[in-house]
Amino acid sequence: MNRRTEFTLYQPKSILNKSKRADHWFWTRYSAYPYIGCQHGCHFCYCREEKYAPYDDPLEFAHHIKVKQNAPALLRRALNRTPVDVVFTGDYQPLERIHQLSRKMLEVCLELGFPVFILERSPLVLRDLNLLQEIQQKSNLVVAFSIISAPGSPGYEHVNEMENLAPPSVKRFDAMEKLAAAGITTGTCMMPILPGLCDSDENLSNVIRQTAGHGGQFVIASGLTLADKQRTYFFDILQSRFHDLMNLYERLYPIGSYAAREDQWSRLGKRVRELCDQNGIRDRVPRPIIPGDKRAFNKRLVEEMADRSYSLELSGAPAGRVWDWRKAAWAVEDLEQDIRLVHSAMGRKGILSMDGVSENTVDEIVQMITSRSAT
Ligand code: SF4
Repeated sequence: MNRRTEFTLYQPKSILNKSKRADHWFWTRYSAYPYIGCQHGCHFCYCREEKYAPYDDPLEFAHHIKVKQNAPALLRRALNRTPVDVVFTGDYQPLERIHQLSRKMLEVCLELGFPVFILERSPLVLRDLNLLQEIQQKSNLVVAFSIISAPGSPGYEHVNEMENLAPPSVKRFDAMEKLAAAGITTGTCMMPILPGLCDSDENLSNVIRQTAGHGGQFVIASGLTLADKQRTYFFDILQSRFHDLMNLYERLYPIGSYAAREDQWSRLGKRVRELCDQNGIRDRVPRPIIPGDKRAFNKRLVEEMADRSYSLELSGAPAGRVWDWRKAAWAVEDLEQDIRLVHSAMGRKGILSMDGVSENTVDEIVQMITSRSAT
């Protein structure tokens, strides 16, 4: 049944979500979005979960879009009072053509010198190519496309059906190529990999090969999460359109679970890494560093430490070892001064004295500092 979409214009009091430090996936510390709800309406979208969507009925998510009219002004006010770091923003669903709030918010980021991370399913982002280039030159930027299935893969049509009204991935690959040709750092977020629909080796291989072939520099992947109303909504879709997959999903996502089992994920993660290696790209998003950032050395080191932690996770190492590296990375992230000064003044002892660094990580961190200082 075709259902009309309703739009509500309103003026919220705040817009910027802040974290204590950058995450280790997209390297974003802040996020700000101009719209609530999404006209694309992908059936697997976690934004229907209660903690993200203020809707009683998950069907409303794609059919009642709330427009934050004052988003650019709110963002300007918030960023003016905030230390510079990466902002996760941009939303190029169809109504952006009319309201242009994503564009205006990017103009604020440019003016105030904030780096930006954009994750998109729409090629409409190309409309703002000149602006993206300006941000890249002034404060750095990454534009990633959500692509979970590539043309030619088994099940491609089914995935298109799951992505509902989002433009097909072939258009996202074209947009990626144009961005890459314009010098923008771009790549693929293969999220979420849907069991039985896009987790075949052929599809993983196609997505990664086509990303590399269209100028993408990375493919980062993760699995599906299902919680509360979104779980019910998703199972209803399976029941009505993909009934053959019901048993598989009931086994992988029993009631009360949030994500599929870790062994299932680490098998896929390892395969994504192998295929990225074969295609000369990475399975991690490069961290945008602002030109002239006084703590750029620390931030690059944190990036290396987060990679170490992710590698341990993929290899099935005990959770404690993975957490040792996460905590150590946070310690370096929080350090106000350049870590090389700590190391040159106090050596290994100085690094070990940092809250979060342990005997399990200190020697490798010293080694990383030494080899990075030499380059
Ligand atoms: S395009 Fe992104 S935000 Fe929109 S419904 Fe799809 S997954 Fe959700």
